[in-house]
Amino acid sequence: MPIDEYLLSGSILCGEDFDVVEGYICIRDGVITEICEEPGGVDALAHGIVLPAFVNAHTHIGDSVLKDPPITDIASLVRPPDGLKHRVLRETSTHDLVHAMRASICDMVKTGTCAFADFREGGLPGVLALMRAIDAATSSGCAGAVDAVILGRPGGGKGGGEDGAEGDGVDEIDSILELAGGIGISSTNDYAEGFAAAIAARTRRQGGVFAIHAGELDSTDIRGALELDPDLLIHLVHASRDDLCRVAGENIPVVVCIRSNLVTRVGIPPVKEMLAQGLLVAAGTDNVMFNSVDIFSEMKFLSSLCQIDERQVLRICTRAGALALGLNCGVIEPGMDARVTVLDKDSYNLSGATNTLRSVVRRARAGDVIFCSGDAGAGTGARMQ
Ligand SMILES: [Zn+2]
Repeated sequence: MPIDEYLLSGSILCGEDFDVVEGYICIRDGVITEICEEPGGVDALAHGIVLPAFVNAHTHIGDSVLKDPPITDIASLVRPPDGLKHRVLRETSTHDLVHAMRASICDMVKTGTCAFADFREGGLPGVLALMRAIDAATSSGCAGAVDAVILGRPGGGKGGGEDGAEGDGVDEIDSILELAGGIGISSTNDYAEGFAAAIAARTRRQGGVFAIHAGELDSTDIRGALELDPDLLIHLVHASRDDLCRVAGENIPVVVCIRSNLVTRVGIPPVKEMLAQGLLVAAGTDNVMFNSVDIFSEMKFLSSLCQIDERQVLRICTRAGALALGLNCGVIEPGMDARVTVLDKDSYNLSGATNTLRSVVRRARAGDVIFCSGDAGAGTGARMQ
């Protein structure tokens, strides 16, 4: 049974700047109601380092059926319709697909993530399979509260990954959008001319979010993606200063996937320049076949490779993703959804750390988690956007 009211105490990373407050927060009916300074300690459900739960702003959890492929060139692995993942998905039963995606959802919750946005291939059956996986995760007790933003993709099949490269897939968008929050597609380079534009137009007409990969392998699909007026851009590894200026001017959030980019050897996204231009930058773990869904790892790579400070890293992995996806979380403030994680400040890994924010970003790991609001019992149930 969910707990309606409880306290979490310790070193709390509060507000947009993650200022440390020694005290406790009150949570009532899944909402943060109060933050109190009280260094003396209180009777709390958990005590440690309290931080906003992560938002994983870009996943392909259908890949959970293929966790250890050979790493060859990215096109042969992921390009629709015949990249390795799409062939494997076509051969996978819906039952096995649901089971594999359920495991990744539970893994996200256990590693401190409260929300994710998934590019769900396989048309309407693919979306239905993800909804079943979310139900399975919550009803089996491994996950209590997780927000799922489902971005479907036309091109049916049996719930696998048969991506539509033909115009007739556009008609499926209406039925996908009755269940999903939007549509997420591959690069414009992967489709016949005019198909991506038709998808974007139909999605917009139906009021859905339109998201697209761009600038991952090279820069050739960035201008084309921007012409589609997307709501969300994924990657932009190869964006020029002019591209970033345009993205900033049009207020399009960008999701960077730094570990994925390293595995596929496409380069490192210009995160520092993106932030300097004022872009809203979120983070995602991308394909499950390349990396785990662990955002702690994502933070370490962002911190080590992008020359940005810890505050920016944590914001990318929490509040920025929430803002990009329209979620009321990612920051610890009264009135926000109580999507929070507590770390054991006395773990072998964290004991002795003197700068809470730095240690959370640079060295904390899933093994330090002692409480997740997404765990069964603490939350208010799964929600699909
Ligand atoms: Zn992707």
